Amino acid sequence: MKPSPTSYKSTCCYCGVGCGVVVTKESNGQLSLEGDKEHPSNKGMLCSKGMNLHYTVMDQSDRLLYPQVRLNRSMPLQRATWDEALERTAAVFKTLIKKFGPDSVAFYVSGQCLTEEYYLVNKLIKGFIGSNNIDTNSRLCMSSAVVGYKLSLGEDSVPVCYDDIEAADVMYVTGANPAWCHPIIWRRVEAHKTANPATKIICVDPRVTDTARSADLHLQIRPGTDIVLNNAIGRLLIENDYLDERFIADHTDGFELFRLQVMQRTLAEAADICGVPSADIALAAEWIGRSKGFLSFWTMGLNQSVIGVNKNLSLINLHLITGKIGKPGNGPFSLTGQPNAMGGRETGGLANILPGHREVVNAAHREEMEQFWNTPVRIADKPGLTATEMFEALADDKLKAIWIINTNPLVSMPDMNAVESALKKSRFVVVQDVSNRADTVHFADVVLPAAAWLEKDGSMTNAERRITYLPKVLDAPGEALPDSEILWRFAQKMGFEKAFNYKTNADVYAEYVKVTKGTTIDVTGVSHQLLKEKRSVQWPLSSLDAERSAEVRQPGTKRLFTDHQFYTKNKRAQIHAVPDENTSEPTDNQFPLVLTSGRIRDQWHTMTKTGRVAKLNKHIPQPFLQIHPVDAQERGIQEGSLVTVSSRRGEVRVKAQITTDVRKGLCFLPMHWGKILGSNLVRANNLTSPLVDPKSKEPDFKFSAVQVALYQKP
Ligand code: SF4
Repeated sequence: MKPSPTSYKSTCCYCGVGCGVVVTKESNGQLSLEGDKEHPSNKGMLCSKGMNLHYTVMDQSDRLLYPQVRLNRSMPLQRATWDEALERTAAVFKTLIKKFGPDSVAFYVSGQCLTEEYYLVNKLIKGFIGSNNIDTNSRLCMSSAVVGYKLSLGEDSVPVCYDDIEAADVMYVTGANPAWCHPIIWRRVEAHKTANPATKIICVDPRVTDTARSADLHLQIRPGTDIVLNNAIGRLLIENDYLDERFIADHTDGFELFRLQVMQRTLAEAADICGVPSADIALAAEWIGRSKGFLSFWTMGLNQSVIGVNKNLSLINLHLITGKIGKPGNGPFSLTGQPNAMGGRETGGLANILPGHREVVNAAHREEMEQFWNTPVRIADKPGLTATEMFEALADDKLKAIWIINTNPLVSMPDMNAVESALKKSRFVVVQDVSNRADTVHFADVVLPAAAWLEKDGSMTNAERRITYLPKVLDAPGEALPDSEILWRFAQKMGFEKAFNYKTNADVYAEYVKVTKGTTIDVTGVSHQLLKEKRSVQWPLSSLDAERSAEVRQPGTKRLFTDHQFYTKNKRAQIHAVPDENTSEPTDNQFPLVLTSGRIRDQWHTMTKTGRVAKLNKHIPQPFLQIHPVDAQERGIQEGSLVTVSSRRGEVRVKAQITTDVRKGLCFLPMHWGKILGSNLVRANNLTSPLVDPKSKEPDFKFSAVQVALYQKP
């Protein structure tokens, strides 16, 4: 008798929108998938990537099936048992740590890791190895937002929720293209606009994107001038009496310095620098000033910048001077690029933080964690190496070993040729991943096969602080193991048997929630069991609140700062007067154009998942360079010409797409393609600048000086 279909509720593992999905194991063994109508984030909707997610686990053709080891780089990788692979890794780690100290090793992880995995790897390296050398690829997409929130609101805390979309009447979308990159949020925005046509959408972007096309006002600014624009809007809000003076006086510090700063540039000067009409800036300021609900969305255009933190602060300032925060439809909303970038932040998954938004530089925080974990070593008092610093340290042989989990830095890091050379020079590389599509696998000394989405259980937090549980639906192929199990088995091989004696991810989660007690992200009321019963909760949700809210369908906290008490020491939000100059690398005669890199609708990161799905590859099958008609004509470039794009660091060769969707002087190149899916000459990050924001250490992906030359006519 055939088994009857069985359905499971899970969460899409692509972007930070965190859409609920229902996966059904059909009686013929195939999987089907649809949006979860009961999930509050997406209400049944899915984008093209989410709709095709199940194909990524049904295709097993490129899966890593068993551990592999090689004793030196001239040898091929050879099949090994789990014990052999983990014992070899533990032996190398122990030797290096003994000889060069704990900072000679590092973990580089991913915003696709589950919360439990993030917690374990942090506990291992920070509490037991004694180094803070763990960072995540989320450093590349949201660390400027983390620092921006911390400096202005006191902690890394997204104050709003998706339901604020339906309560807002002005949406300010800046440095983001949600129509392609966060499509379900965008559908909610569009549906709200259709039902309430007076709602205004302002899009700030140097490119004409699908988001810009559906906006009421597109401010097509010059790259790097976001702060000038936000400060100009701030000045107009002051001059036209749109301030909430009571809110400023009672709940903020820093307004006077801000006022002096923004008064330094006239509207005409700002418009000239930004390259947009003064009247358009004035209209944006008027809509924001008059709004009842002012919601701002941003992602990489603000974050991936050498002045990313200041860009964030300049935007949050607009909410603070108008008091448009902490009430329905109002607040700054950083959209996260990855499904569990938020969970990583909560569990301490950056080189400078500890679980529960604690800081490694805070002695009291370190002591709390040392006691909680009963650590055999002191937690290091300085931040560890961040993402880009790790690869620089590998190149200099200051870092001897790196363990890369579920991320593909050979496509995603800036200044790729330098990263590739660092990996070639490195002494010891462990790659823990699902498939051999990750370019990094081919540099590994040890390869550890990991279970994919649906093959392991655990939890994730989406962009609106909503935690959901993901069940195990399928057995992993071959000998692949859940990432948590790989980590706790390795920790045991390192001699930490007692502290890593877990049997399930529910055990790991139960331990993690205890460390959040008394912190602003208190989730002591949350367990895998509660998540299974309630489907999702929004943090914070303490034990006390969980008891009280037992009957509530969606427990937790929708909106932060409703009492206008912020997480700073004096409970007041901080308005920052930030300089508005861009400090990206300069253009010159040799490299006169600005390159911005980004994403396309149907691909995800480095295509290790979406690249397997034929339907998704059809949308845009090849990488391309968008270039303005005037810039193309000056270089003899026609539509479809093969062009060479060069920067101070490397080259790319792709077909030209001539379009006024980019400003004159600007080019756009998608970042998804890597060597495995093309050649070394399609990697956008061959070109990108190694500069990082000094506070967030996030790279400047959106501004690199390049030249474009005709290589071959079409
Ligand atoms: Fe998945 Fe994001 Fe699409 Fe939702 S919007 S289905 S989370 S990729």
